[in-house]
Amino acid sequence: MPSTVLSRPVVLTFADGVRPGAAPLLPVVGADTQVPLARGGRTRYVGLDTAASTPALVAVAERVAETLPLYASVHRGAGYLSQVSTALYETARDTVAAFVGGRPDDVCVFTRHTTDALNLLAGCVPAGEAVLVLDCEHHADLLPWQRRGPVTVLPTGSTVTATLRALADTLARGRYALVAVTGASNVTGESLPLDAVVELAHAAGARVLVDGAQSVPHRRFSLAESDADYIAFSGHKTYAPFGSGALVGRRDWLDAAPAYLAGGGAVQDVTVEETTWAAAPHRHEGGSPNVLGAIALAAACDALAALPAGALEAHERALRERLDRGLRALPGIRQLRIWPDSAEPTGVLSFTVAGADPGLVAAYLSAEHGVGVRDGRFCAHPLLARLGVPEGALRASVGAGTTAADVDRLLTGLAAFLESGTSVPYAVVDGRWQPADDPRPLARLAGADLRAVTRGAGCGQAGGQTTLR
Ligand code: PMP
Repeated sequence: MPSTVLSRPVVLTFADGVRPGAAPLLPVVGADTQVPLARGGRTRYVGLDTAASTPALVAVAERVAETLPLYASVHRGAGYLSQVSTALYETARDTVAAFVGGRPDDVCVFTRHTTDALNLLAGCVPAGEAVLVLDCEHHADLLPWQRRGPVTVLPTGSTVTATLRALADTLARGRYALVAVTGASNVTGESLPLDAVVELAHAAGARVLVDGAQSVPHRRFSLAESDADYIAFSGHKTYAPFGSGALVGRRDWLDAAPAYLAGGGAVQDVTVEETTWAAAPHRHEGGSPNVLGAIALAAACDALAALPAGALEAHERALRERLDRGLRALPGIRQLRIWPDSAEPTGVLSFTVAGADPGLVAAYLSAEHGVGVRDGRFCAHPLLARLGVPEGALRASVGAGTTAADVDRLLTGLAAFLESGTSVPYAVVDGRWQPADDPRPLARLAGADLRAVTRGAGCGQAGGQTTLR
């Protein structure tokens, strides 16, 4: 139970005109999915964990449905649909490269996700050359470098200015082939000014990789304009949860490196003695590619690129500000920040609730309010330790499908928790908090009983309603 109680009523209504955040910016599949509550009844699911995975855009689901009947093997098939699928796959590559401002000589490799892309790049940095990374990174932008070596993991400074100074000093003292930096923290949404990082790195002869998992889906990004060398991002965080991600950037390292996966598709010619490998991107796409995943990712890029300039940023800014104001009005909530002087974060906000286990609060928000947030250490253990919360925190994140009403549901739930605690008992089962004797039929859903999921309308329809019984 929390030790804090509300000392004054929390104002959860804000003076909204017609404003960003009032309605979804883009329709997403499952916006009306109903989920069961621990005390009985159902409510519309509110997903505030877009930093982990976003729902599919309706436009993406429609593109996948349209493309499925055209699907056939790519690259080597002689059939008409093989030719069509190859054209769709290669066009998707061009779309994704253009979406991140790829230069004419950049390569776009389709990967499974950001983790895959960064592991691939780790195998392409010239052997023996060092990589420089900060300790505030997600594990996906830390462990591939750590495993590859040599790597310097620089302690994140207490301010942006101090961090840039430490970066400059380290680059001046050693020789680095690559600086790997996040486009936005998955914990706080903060980032270092990319232009400054690129300038420092390039002046020292190092390239820059941007881990765009949390930035590409939320902020316009251009390799050409930023002069960064590589960008990696994930489809499942970019409204295309169909198993594809991408690494886009300079060709030379990718062409010189060993194939990421040795096998069909990655080669030009093979004899028993010798293999001639294909150039990138095919060199690193051994095996049959995820064609529909790539097409889905391109559809998401198309939909985001078609938004008026600044619309996505304004939408997410309004929601983040609403969340920030609402959390500030609640007692015992501490928001996490890496730097006091960072520029505007993306729509990700982590916080602790005084006296309450984050896992319990997250379980309560789900079971009693139908709100999905993340709890734990967010695959950023060194950062959580640095922020003084090695035991973890809660994280809420918004996206193109999020509305002000979604944010208010979270705030209302938290306010009720702080005022009166949970209304059903909770227990830790298999390491996670959940209502004791949870009446919700999750176990059945994990098995074959998909009758528990009733689809009220096709997934291509924004208004379709899905009910979990
Ligand atoms: N980098 C950051 C900043 C992330 O937030 C994540 C996912 N949480 C990743 C990398 C890894 O992404 P994926 O799991 O899609 O590989």
